[in-house]
Amino acid sequence: MDTAIVVFTRDLRVHDNPALHQARSRARRVVPLFVADPALDATKRSPNRARFLAESLAGLREALRERGADLILRAGEPAAEVIRLVSEVKAGAVYLADDVSRYAAARRAALERECARHRIDLVFTPGLTVVAPGDLAPAGGGYYRVFTPYWRAWRAAAWRQRCPPPERLEMPSVTTAGQLPAQPAGSPGLAAGGEQAGRQRFVSWRQRLLVGYDENHDDLAGDQTSRLSAYLRFGCVSPLEVAIGALGRPGGEPFARQLAWRDFFYQVTAAFPDIARKNYRPGAAWHQDQHALDAWQAGQTGIPVVDAGMRQLAAEGFMHNRARMVTASFLTRNLGIDWRHGYRHFDYFLADGDVANNAGNWQWVAGTGNNTRPNRVMNPLRQAQRFDKSGEYVRRYVPELAHLASTAIQAPWKLPSAQRERLGYPGPIVELS
Ligand SMILES: Cc1cc2nc3c(=O)[nH]c(=O)nc-3n(C[C@H](O)[C@H](O)[C@H](O)COP(=O)(O)OP(=O)(O)OC[C@H]3O[C@@H](n4cnc5c(N)ncnc54)[C@H](O)[C@@H]3O)c2cc1C
Repeated sequence: MDTAIVVFTRDLRVHDNPALHQARSRARRVVPLFVADPALDATKRSPNRARFLAESLAGLREALRERGADLILRAGEPAAEVIRLVSEVKAGAVYLADDVSRYAAARRAALERECARHRIDLVFTPGLTVVAPGDLAPAGGGYYRVFTPYWRAWRAAAWRQRCPPPERLEMPSVTTAGQLPAQPAGSPGLAAGGEQAGRQRFVSWRQRLLVGYDENHDDLAGDQTSRLSAYLRFGCVSPLEVAIGALGRPGGEPFARQLAWRDFFYQVTAAFPDIARKNYRPGAAWHQDQHALDAWQAGQTGIPVVDAGMRQLAAEGFMHNRARMVTASFLTRNLGIDWRHGYRHFDYFLADGDVANNAGNWQWVAGTGNNTRPNRVMNPLRQAQRFDKSGEYVRRYVPELAHLASTAIQAPWKLPSAQRERLGYPGPIVELS
């Protein structure tokens, strides 16, 4: 075949990119394309992700230019833009990574329709997960609803081969390359996007902290997890390369287990695309409490570990996993507020926010998801005593309390009232049992 188009979506990398690799192997010339769909309203929905995306696209364009090609940028309805470019460059095939959300399913259907109409080959490849959704199935068929058997199957499965990055690419001329999207201002502590930044982070983190991952990943103040999630979300790093690069080293096994959680929620979402809208299984009756929801969102609940998590989210577009669990449990279990409110707030701020992992985890914590212990409630005070013993995490994000000693910082409501009033910090919005 002479010319193929590669549509980049959430696989913004040249290393181990199956869509790019397959197109390059089968066609003489390759046209890399990214289509920004205005229907997604990226900047309004999440300025942090819009910024991370813009930086990642800039890096990808550079990497492609170094290899003799370019990244063609278009804005519009994806299938229509793909077909327009197909006609311009006379492409015979279109390659892209398969995805699981409702949006991705609609995009897939539109592309299938349009490519069939124009007699163009359309090839979906893996690449967004270590193990593609649907590749593993329990004995009775269907998909995995419980994590542990999924993890066992995931670990025992034969994974696909990694694809080498192309050394050179040949690309036909295209009338306009298109402009990179603007970079909106994000949270002040937002990480920089891009394949180079993601790869560097993985290598340096692995060298320093993978070995202690099992022991330290829950330590809130230690902040010793990889912080690769946004790079995985946009495919700046390949999940398969990360898994292979970690396994076989001390700490690799528990770390890979987290990557398997990510794959687990993808295959749940593929089977239940309404995961961000509907309870996966019946849950509690929620109540409305706008005042409590506002306090939770603003990090003003009066429960320091909860407020620290929520303020970290706003400041960095990231929150430590343990804090995500504590803040989510507090919203749904202590305040009785519908997990969908929490999902939407996280979706706005998280650079790593995605349908499968955000909704899958929210439902897990709320007791409506794939949790085998759906009634488990986390007591935020006990969580703070266990995972932020010294109070350092709270000190970092709640400056009003920074001068307090470790016991007082976790439960400032126990201080004498005169001292409490001087803090400029609210009393707890609910009593903790
Ligand atoms: C309420 C709630 C919402 C969440 N929303 C998201 C989200 O939108 N996007 C997202 O990527 N993760 C989400 N998570 C999972 C987890 O908190 C983050 O993946 C993790 O904190 C990212 O930090 P890290 O990269 O340093 O993780 P590490 O501990 O270094 O883990 C490595 C990778 O494994 C994956 N991973 C780790 N934990 C989980 C998990 N529980 N579920 C799925 N994948 C996991 C991530 O891709 C992560 O980058 C959510 C968790 C909760 C409780």
